[in-house]
Amino acid sequence: MGRLAFEMHRTAFVSHSDCGRHDTGWGHPEHVGRLVAIMRAIRNDYELFQQLEHVEGRHATVDELALVHDRAYVESIRSIAANGGARLDIDTVASEGSWDAATAAAGCVLDAVDMALDGRAARSFSAVRPPGHHAVYDRSMGFCIFGNVALGARYARKVHGVERVLAVDWDVHHGNGTQALVQDDPNIRFLSMHQWPFYPGTGIATDRGPHDNVRNVPMPAGLPPEDYAVAFERSFDDLSTGFKPDLILVSAGFDSLAGDAIGGFTLEMEHVDRLTRFVTSRADEVCNGRVVSVLEGGYTPLRLAQAVVVHMRALAGLPAAE
Ligand SMILES: [Zn+2]
Repeated sequence: MGRLAFEMHRTAFVSHSDCGRHDTGWGHPEHVGRLVAIMRAIRNDYELFQQLEHVEGRHATVDELALVHDRAYVESIRSIAANGGARLDIDTVASEGSWDAATAAAGCVLDAVDMALDGRAARSFSAVRPPGHHAVYDRSMGFCIFGNVALGARYARKVHGVERVLAVDWDVHHGNGTQALVQDDPNIRFLSMHQWPFYPGTGIATDRGPHDNVRNVPMPAGLPPEDYAVAFERSFDDLSTGFKPDLILVSAGFDSLAGDAIGGFTLEMEHVDRLTRFVTSRADEVCNGRVVSVLEGGYTPLRLAQAVVVHMRALAGLPAAE
């Protein structure tokens, strides 16, 4: 399996300054300080920093967003932002900068998919906000405006002509939006690990998608992190064996760490390292190492930032830091 072989792949850190313009206010858990902490932590690990390709992503177009979203909904976000912003739903707000931020978040993922498939960077992490995995066809939900990872999967299929895509989601919450936006395509498979019972209340284990292409793994708060890691690896193999994806997307939510301000899971940095290296070793076996990882949640900024460094070191094939 080569699980301990740290294969080196060109690895990109993809971001966009506009992601900082989604102004939710400091009282909102999904605030801009999350990205500030990540940027600082990446810069403070010089070995990692100099290893990475630093990429400023682009903005997704309306046509691209329409691969997964209702055009009228997409345009409504543009006009709400142009009018200074508004509350979109009970949890999600838009500010004047949120159109530019949300289109940049989605566009960074599209750039990451382009780079993975044209060979410029097999691996990447997109440090973007707003997050995406709760957004559905025609509405925002749970801090999310556009379904960044779902869009990346659809874009890989429709624009690049990729045959099979696997998306895995280790955010503490069910990736309901991603599931809804990809599950009608039997050539996209989706795994979500999530705390149960918990927001958003979907993702029961018997929900396996219309083509048996979804695995939902609900688990209780406080479970031993080892149990989580084993369940992840087993479910990953259950879903992907015989499927042979051409590209693996990761909804990397770090609200599954112990000490998160919202989540109740107990993962530590060693588990972030383990999960990441598991995914990259599988990617080396089946898809030339291609892993496009995308930030979702993670609401204790210093823990989030440390986890991103651990995750990126593993993506880049660097040894885990002491
Ligand atoms: Zn989450």
